[in-house]
Amino acid sequence: MCVNPPPDAVPGTPEGCAFLVGAGPGDPELLTLRAARVLAGADVVLYDALIDPAILALARPGARRIDVGKRCGRHAMSQAAINQLIVGCARDGAVVVRLKGGDPFVFGRGGEELDCLRAAGIKVQVVPGVTAACAAAASLQLPLTHRGVARSLHFVTGHGANGTLPAHEWAALTRAGGTLAAYMAGRTIAPLAAALIAAGLPGPTPAVAVENASRPNERHVFATLAGLAEAIAAAAPEGPMLVLIGAVLDRALVAEAGALARAA
Ligand code: SAH
Repeated sequence: MCVNPPPDAVPGTPEGCAFLVGAGPGDPELLTLRAARVLAGADVVLYDALIDPAILALARPGARRIDVGKRCGRHAMSQAAINQLIVGCARDGAVVVRLKGGDPFVFGRGGEELDCLRAAGIKVQVVPGVTAACAAAASLQLPLTHRGVARSLHFVTGHGANGTLPAHEWAALTRAGGTLAAYMAGRTIAPLAAALIAAGLPGPTPAVAVENASRPNERHVFATLAGLAEAIAAAAPEGPMLVLIGAVLDRALVAEAGALARAA
């Protein structure tokens, strides 16, 4: 039965319910208090790859924990199968937590899961999480927007159909003059940078790739937009990686140089 029911659940009914929960970028300290509370009341937790064990440990001891996002060559469960599983468990009367990396509604397919749950008439609540771009920016001490430098922030995906670069409005993104946060761009960073340069963003625009933001193995690769693909290839990242591009990065470069000078 649903112990922490979503607001429109009927009290006392033995029906299950679902929570779409953002687990944040990795560091367990970046989990919200609400996420921790909801986990503590879960019967079933369906979790993505790379969720820290310390976060999973917050689930009720008897809760079923199901890894639906296996990595390293092993197949992840298909989105359709995940949707079915959430709905099936909730229909059986379970409190289901769908625990997702970052925020459920930022490139997380949370909308599809929400639609399925609603169509099945299951009560659902969404718990936001810290998205990777915010975690990366915090590590770098980099404001994503900054008065007079970056007046907008654009989240774009580098991963379109068949893993190719999606057809974004490159000219509009370039004209906007804000900060660009590219998710899932590991394989498409070369065409992504080329598209931005062709649309008018100067090649020397500063950029950074942040791997494993908020985790102990976090790494940063600073480069110009023109040199970014090569710099990333040389660093050979293996973990999740986010790319930030824009004039505001100059501040991060100054901060990094300061840190290096202090360390020397
Ligand atoms: N819902 C997630 C994004 C899922 S898409 C969020 O809000 O953060 C997966 C992509 O997110 C990865 O390819 C990478 O671009 C980014 N990402 C997720 N976690 C990250 C991390 N700890 N460090 C860097 N990038 C990360």
